Amino acid sequence: MLDSPFKEAIAVLNHIEEHGHEAYFVGGCVRDYLLGREIRDVDIATSATPQFIQKIFDKVIPVGIEHGTVIVRHQQTSYEVTTFRIDGTYSDSRHPDHVAFISKIDKDLKRRDFTINAMAMDKKGKVIDLYQGREDISDKVIRTVGNGYDRFKEDPLRMVRALRFASQLGFTLDSETQKQIKTLRREVNTIAVERIAMEMEKFFAGNYIADAIKELQLTGLHKNLPVLKQKPAMIDALQREQKPLFTLAEMFAFFHLLDPTVSIMTWIREWKASNQTKRDTIKLVEAVREFQESGIQNWIVYKLPGELYEGFIRVLVALSCQAVPSLQEMYNMEDDLPIMSRQQLCFNGNDLIELFPQIAKGPWMQKILIEVEYLVVIKELTNDKEKIKEWLKWNPPEIS
Ligand code: ATP
Ligand code: MG
Repeated sequence: MLDSPFKEAIAVLNHIEEHGHEAYFVGGCVRDYLLGREIRDVDIATSATPQFIQKIFDKVIPVGIEHGTVIVRHQQTSYEVTTFRIDGTYSDSRHPDHVAFISKIDKDLKRRDFTINAMAMDKKGKVIDLYQGREDISDKVIRTVGNGYDRFKEDPLRMVRALRFASQLGFTLDSETQKQIKTLRREVNTIAVERIAMEMEKFFAGNYIADAIKELQLTGLHKNLPVLKQKPAMIDALQREQKPLFTLAEMFAFFHLLDPTVSIMTWIREWKASNQTKRDTIKLVEAVREFQESGIQNWIVYKLPGELYEGFIRVLVALSCQAVPSLQEMYNMEDDLPIMSRQQLCFNGNDLIELFPQIAKGPWMQKILIEVEYLVVIKELTNDKEKIKEWLKWNPPEIS
């Protein structure tokens, strides 16, 4: 008997089978089950068409009907249910021109990228393994299903995926698979940068990133990725003990700090990253720079949004910084901050005008307010209007 999360999903398989169709668990969930890894999503492959699935289940979200995929909601869980299919020719190296639904699972498994991802499992736990996926799992090898040259030509994103699975699982690339990536790596230029970015984010987040960087170097694939192609030495400069980074913002901050000649904006533009990623990258870089100057201190904790604390720590670790704070230390410092935001300062622009009525309004005001805010945060000045006024009398604004 299968355990969670398959146990709960069996009801979905049963329901499809009761309506005369085949259904299996497939892809990443079978791989992770055989590896004893935590299973995130349980994906299902079936001989039933998407329309048929929509008919027999109450809650179905049609996410990609043209590719045969719908989401079935069952007991508050979402299952991707995809009809067995073969992909047509890939004229634009991105999306199959057409997909054809088929009634048997064997050809559906054949279209999948790697042997470890090309297994299916029935509700009793019996694994269908037509391409020696289990053997490759025990040998820790990433190998394309079928001829690597053809499979990478069909969809060059698979080359990036090969490396991200190497990083997540601690596997090595089969020698033929590695050779074909070396040959075809230029073809990654034909796929959308955003799709490469999603895979590379997982690549840098992998537990086995240090080993996977060696695999990346062996293929030379980084020489065809945005920014890294102009600066392949960045990859060669990475530590032998390289530690993972979880987001694109962490990755860009890390690389920018390693080589400041490549601006943050270049990273953002070339990788077509979002504005959120841009903002986070800038905040992480500022925080790390402050840390490199004066270690962990209130100002960093104050300026950095709480949701970036862990990313900040990961960037410091990845840069092999000394005296890296723990998350708890950062939270303790946050709890102990005299103010949480500028609004809590007992002194504002109006107070400043009142104190120095003779000076015309101007950029000097912002400068002074930031200085006061800084001194209060680092506890060199008490957050008290009179105390701040007193300090300002002795440290009046310098107007040039
Ligand atoms: P993860 O746990 O990271 O989601 P996964 O194996 O589920 O890993 P997905 O990207 O979610 O990876 O893809 C689901 C399955 O679809 C894969 O296991 C593989 O069988 C197939 N697949 C995905 N992308 C491709 C591709 N580009 N070419 C061929 N098969 C693919
Ligand atoms: Mg998945």
